[in-house]
Amino acid sequence: MRSSPERLLFAAGQVIYQAGEQADGAYLVLSGGVALASMGPDGRPRTVLRRCGDIIGDLALVEDGVRDATATSSEDCELLMFSSLHLVERMADVDPLVQLAFVSMATRYSETAERWGGGTPAAAPTARMRTVWSAQAQVARDLLSFEHQIRAGLERGEFEVFFQPIVQIDTGRLAGVEALTRWRHPRRGLLMPVDFISFAESCGAISALTNEGMRRMGTAFPILQAAAARSANGGPLFVGINVSSLDLEQECFAAMMAATLCDAGVDPADVKLEVTESILMADAERCAQTLRNCRDQGFAIAIDDFGAGYSSLNYLGMLPITDLKLDRSFCRSLLTEAAGAKIIEAILHLGQDLGLTVTAEGIETVEQFDRLKGMGCRLGQGYLFGPAITQDDMLALIADWPTLWRNFSPRPAA
Ligand code: C2E
Ligand code: CA
Ligand code: CA
Repeated sequence: MRSSPERLLFAAGQVIYQAGEQADGAYLVLSGGVALASMGPDGRPRTVLRRCGDIIGDLALVEDGVRDATATSSEDCELLMFSSLHLVERMADVDPLVQLAFVSMATRYSETAERWGGGTPAAAPTARMRTVWSAQAQVARDLLSFEHQIRAGLERGEFEVFFQPIVQIDTGRLAGVEALTRWRHPRRGLLMPVDFISFAESCGAISALTNEGMRRMGTAFPILQAAAARSANGGPLFVGINVSSLDLEQECFAAMMAATLCDAGVDPADVKLEVTESILMADAERCAQTLRNCRDQGFAIAIDDFGAGYSSLNYLGMLPITDLKLDRSFCRSLLTEAAGAKIIEAILHLGQDLGLTVTAEGIETVEQFDRLKGMGCRLGQGYLFGPAITQDDMLALIADWPTLWRNFSPRPAA
């Protein structure tokens, strides 16, 4: 967790820091004014005034020296004191290119101060601060290199889409699949989304990944769909695909996705776009418009990881949602906590009243499956039915599904 900078109040005439004191941070002037008294380059004393919005003592952010000026409040003032640690913590959220540029400028600033300081104590940056900033620069360089690897991996076609089965709980029919991205990294092997999705989101590469996922899914899904139609499983499949907040920020997202899929022969009505509640909370209005456009194009819209963290249900009435995917934590608590089953039942009723299809995620045991079946949950997904697998393995699974289902279900499909 981030530490908070400290707010400090100074009465007019009070000394904030003295020249020659060890510097421990910089100050942002929030109100009032500060007089800075120091020796000018010509050896004569000089005073400058700093006002609301100015930062004083900022050399302390790039070197561990002593103050080269005395700061006194010229009137009552309020200051926010922050250290290099605060800066380093906040830097983690910044684009790595901006981080590198900052570290480069900070280092140059400190070197220039050292050169012009002429050997005064204030001009002696310590190894500690240089170490902090060079570690920060290394993190930024690693991030930039990872971003480059993602983009190069996309060009080399290293990102694949795996498919996980989704089952109609009352009949055991294979109802659909969820498309989940994997990175076949040339050196690190098969990488899972946890290794790259959140980074791709923070560096902006996620939209390219989503496009690639749609493109690959567009090629694979008609083949799976045809196999399902030929198999004893019968009937059509749907496919769920995850989208991120940056995707929904693109005004033309709905039209672009529909065009990509229509070119591939996929009907948007067979596609469920999965969005998490956290995305909707971050920019509800903009998301609402894009999601309405997606619905107009025929896509179904599923709330992924439903119930995982946000308590506001307002958006259910405002957005064109068709599906809820119950977070897998509910499945874990279904048989172990008294409230677990009650919460699932309440969500199933809510889904029914709002005309939404509910999928329970994370079904791992026959006991969980039986309980959900008794509650009337419509769709289920989880390791009990199988993990995400390659297109070829999914084709084999579709062909064998009725047999597989009879083998692992205590009550076979009617
Ligand atoms: P998700 O959308 O909630 O996907 C379900 C995740 O739960 C998958 O992990 C799946 O393998 C895992 N899972 C399925 N059944 C079970 C089970 O019974 N027990 C447990 N413990 N886990 C189960 P995966 O494939 O590692 O994906 C993780 C997350 O990464 C996904 O969570 C999704 O949020 C994100 N993701 C995956 N592919 C993409 C993508 O192409 N784009 C975006 N934006 N996000 C993606
Ligand atoms: Ca999902
Ligand atoms: Ca989920």
